Amino acid sequence: MKTHAALFTASILSAAVVIFTVFFGLKNIYRPAFNASTHKIIIDAGHGLPDGGAVAADGTIESDINLAIARLLNDMLTAAGFECIMTRTDENSICTDGGTIHAKKVSDTKNRVAIARKNSDAFVVSIHMNTYTTPDVHGSQVFYKSGSDISKEIAEEVQRIINLKYQPDNKKTVKPIPSNVYLFKNISNNSILAECGFLTNEDDLKKLKSAEFQQDIAKSIAEVVTFKLIGSDINGN
Ligand SMILES: [Zn+2]
Repeated sequence: MKTHAALFTASILSAAVVIFTVFFGLKNIYRPAFNASTHKIIIDAGHGLPDGGAVAADGTIESDINLAIARLLNDMLTAAGFECIMTRTDENSICTDGGTIHAKKVSDTKNRVAIARKNSDAFVVSIHMNTYTTPDVHGSQVFYKSGSDISKEIAEEVQRIINLKYQPDNKKTVKPIPSNVYLFKNISNNSILAECGFLTNEDDLKKLKSAEFQQDIAKSIAEVVTFKLIGSDINGN
């Protein structure tokens, strides 16, 4: 009898240990890794007319694709509960000064810096397209604000998901945003910069122009940002 009672007690105890471990283990997995919770996102579509950014051989301009992806991201992150601030919402830059294209570009960048500084608690997601001197180089690459752990963690996860789900032959890994990029040199916000692909590569260009791939990229970013910053999926679960 005593043996049975002891066995029964032991079983109850081990069941309790299993339940405790599973429950708190899972809770731990689904907790954001950093206490960097913010509900504000700055979505920065790179460039804007008269500065179209990089231009593909077929005349596609970078600023148009940047805006298309930024708009999708805005829809997804707004639906997930974030307050989103887009640095530009149409094809034009946000310059307020300058006669020459260069002067307009300087004014535009300074205005973007001002938006980020005014919202220093916001996480910045900047969207750009890449180019290279040879047509073989391809694939998305995510950069992060140097010295920011949460930015690096988000960049790594976005890169991992894009490579895994959409670009199995993409060997690119995350890198810090180069220190000479004016916008990021002048702001302290946690940030990532997604170079979504190469306008100089035929396959990348085809994908970047497709609504489906634009959606895939936006979704990859939105899912990771939502999960890491507010600890839920993009549907709020
Ligand atoms: Zn660019």
